[in-house]
Amino acid sequence: MKIAVFATKSYDRMFFERENQAYHFELEFFQAGLDSVTASLAIGFDAVCVFVNDELDADCLAKLAAGGTRIVALRCAGFNNVDLQAAAGHGLSVVRVPAYSPYGVAEHAVALILGLNRKTHKAYNRVRERNFALEGLLGFNLHSKTVGVIGTGKIGEVFCRIMQGFGCRVLAMDPCPNKACLASGVEYVGFEPLLEKSDILSIHCPLTPETFHLIGGEAVERMKQGVMLINTSRGAIIDTVAVIKGLKSRKIGYLGLDVYEEEADLFFEDISDKILEDDVFARLLTFPNVLITGHQAFFTSEALENIASTTFANIACLEKGVACPNLLPHPGQSS
Ligand code: NAD
Repeated sequence: MKIAVFATKSYDRMFFERENQAYHFELEFFQAGLDSVTASLAIGFDAVCVFVNDELDADCLAKLAAGGTRIVALRCAGFNNVDLQAAAGHGLSVVRVPAYSPYGVAEHAVALILGLNRKTHKAYNRVRERNFALEGLLGFNLHSKTVGVIGTGKIGEVFCRIMQGFGCRVLAMDPCPNKACLASGVEYVGFEPLLEKSDILSIHCPLTPETFHLIGGEAVERMKQGVMLINTSRGAIIDTVAVIKGLKSRKIGYLGLDVYEEEADLFFEDISDKILEDDVFARLLTFPNVLITGHQAFFTSEALENIASTTFANIACLEKGVACPNLLPHPGQSS
């Protein structure tokens, strides 16, 4: 089994090579991301292994199939970057890693909340300059605050539990309420009450046609004055321009992002010597109450181990022709 691993970083290579000692797949690592232009690199490979910002559109998938590829192994949970209809049409099997770091992502969302609230990133710099003044560092207690959670799947569930540990009231919205969350006292409400009642809103649902720009101008209008908005899910769930308007009007008091709708051109690379072309992102960076990380919520050693082991286990299942629990159903087919 020959596997082309796209968008490879040194840490991917380290964990994949370590895990491959149990499988002995033939691996080739490419720094390039996979899209319709780079798909030719995969000619002759049985499988491609891809990440969140690779673009597996119909054109790319047609080229992969023509080059002999049969398996698309996503080393992430979200699959919004794969045209599943086109993959099915070409007989390509698409597998993913549905849960590799629910704790890591939920904990990172909490890190953004604590950082924005207590301004530890600013305090760090101040203290290094021997500036011990407290002006501008005023925070608030999380205890007794109301936290609204959009999506209570694996990550949302862990996030709810952590916030309950802080003594927060947790409200949630999810078309499929989570039994463990219900049992622990999470209150499910509709979208509007969630927006109106939450001091902190945290997004943990997938990006789908229904959730695209779920947080737009109208949603921002409904939020509490000074709300804290956190997104560690997918950038396009937020309409960034509407959120910038909310920051300028002071409706949004804090914004914590690990994802950004146009992140594919920015994240995972050191572009510190380049001119930033994205004016919307540049505007976000000007706010003192915005904290952005570059899609690192998943980035723990436990997650990278799970990603590598689950990816290889998925591919091994398909190679042996046995049922793979992480195979994505064809569109229209129930999972
Ligand atoms: P999951 O599938 O376990 O849970 C997603 C939940 O969202 C489900 O309960 C689903 O019913 C709910 N949902 C679907 N549509 C909704 C809607 N319109 N409104 C409210 N809820 C809705 O997924 P997960 O493992 O918890 O991951 C959630 C998301 O986090 C992923 O889709 C991915 O985009 C993102 N993620 C980000 C990182 C990162 O590093 N930043 C890492 C992993 C996952």
